[in-house]
Amino acid sequence: MNILVINAGSSSLKYQLFDMETETVLAKGLCERIGLDGHLKHTPLGNGKPVFDEDVALKDHSVAIQAVIDKLVSEEYGVVGSMAEIDAVGHRVVHGGESFNESTLITDEVLKAIEDCIPLAPLHNPANITGIKACQEVMGPDVPQIAVFDTAFHQTMPEKAFMYPIPYEYYREDKIRRYGFHGTSHRYVAARAAELIGKPAEELKLISCHMGNGSSICAVDGGKSVDTSMGFTPLAGLPMGTRCGDIDAGIMEYIMNKYDMGIGEMMTVLNKKSGMVGISERSSDFRDLIDASAEGSHKSGLALDMFCYDVAKTIGSYVVALGGVDAIIFTAGVGENSRPVRNGVCKYLSAIGADMDPEKNSACKGECDIATDDSKVRLWVIPTNEELVIARDTKAIAEK
Ligand code: AMP
Repeated sequence: MNILVINAGSSSLKYQLFDMETETVLAKGLCERIGLDGHLKHTPLGNGKPVFDEDVALKDHSVAIQAVIDKLVSEEYGVVGSMAEIDAVGHRVVHGGESFNESTLITDEVLKAIEDCIPLAPLHNPANITGIKACQEVMGPDVPQIAVFDTAFHQTMPEKAFMYPIPYEYYREDKIRRYGFHGTSHRYVAARAAELIGKPAEELKLISCHMGNGSSICAVDGGKSVDTSMGFTPLAGLPMGTRCGDIDAGIMEYIMNKYDMGIGEMMTVLNKKSGMVGISERSSDFRDLIDASAEGSHKSGLALDMFCYDVAKTIGSYVVALGGVDAIIFTAGVGENSRPVRNGVCKYLSAIGADMDPEKNSACKGECDIATDDSKVRLWVIPTNEELVIARDTKAIAEK
């Protein structure tokens, strides 16, 4: 069975085609500047065919999907014989609100429910819906389309973890609560950690740290999310590349009054100009900050220190929430690749019985346990694979 995984943004569309017999990626690619002019990079994998990387007119998402399928089946760049060899499509959908606690076959009702979640994710859900409709249009009604939600994994959080201490009516009327994001990633690495540790997920208490451009931490008890650091929106929790994370809401009033700033401008400051780039006044990229800090930049070092301190504090609070922890997992761009950041976080963790082995941390490539042999808590680095989770869910639902 071949599964196409689609991650549609407002002007971009990422894709991977999986052969699910072997769970291998046959081809992957990216459409950019959809609706503007258009560019397609298509990479066939493992069959020796060349990469296609050119400007292509992409006036909308339907044209983009058609261009992707044309490449997937083409003589020169293709990996399958015809569109009929694509058995189902899995779509990443950012927000499923309280309606979806698992992946689901997209029907008209489901599409309507995803549309109802637009106010909760005004930037992401419309783009995801556009991608779904484009696939339906190009591939027809016989190819099952499945939605996999970033929020679904966190729907198991208890009320005490997802409610905000603001008037209850905002939950009742407006569904304002913690939803959490990166659910597909946390779910993948938590399940993978259980496999690597060799114990059933039901018996493990895990803390998953997804540290990338956007970052979140998730407490996983017996395979279920019980708390997470992102909130009603992905602005909450840790300081990130350009996002502030948790701050005192009173700061907004003070800045807006003092600088005569509207809410739109304030949100741009908090979403785009804060976090690592805001503190360092240099870059949102952790690599740049590590280099600058090594060259003596105080503010770059401070941004990194603030990030590591907040990750460690959040881990500490989740140890309490879980009543202990068996393993802590590092994943995503920074978690998988940055030894200095893992080091910066782990230096706080001996207080909870987690001791990092610096040599294992330095030598780590791919999946590895970087804890010392006698550390009570294991420290796993596990590369995330959200696309594979989407493909697996899509296969399971399409087979039904
Ligand atoms: P993601 O959002 O998961 O794609 O992660 C992107 C971020 O990972 C980038 O902004 C970088 O800051 C970070 N990153 C990627 N590779 C490295 C590396 N080798 N060392 C430090 N940070 C890295």
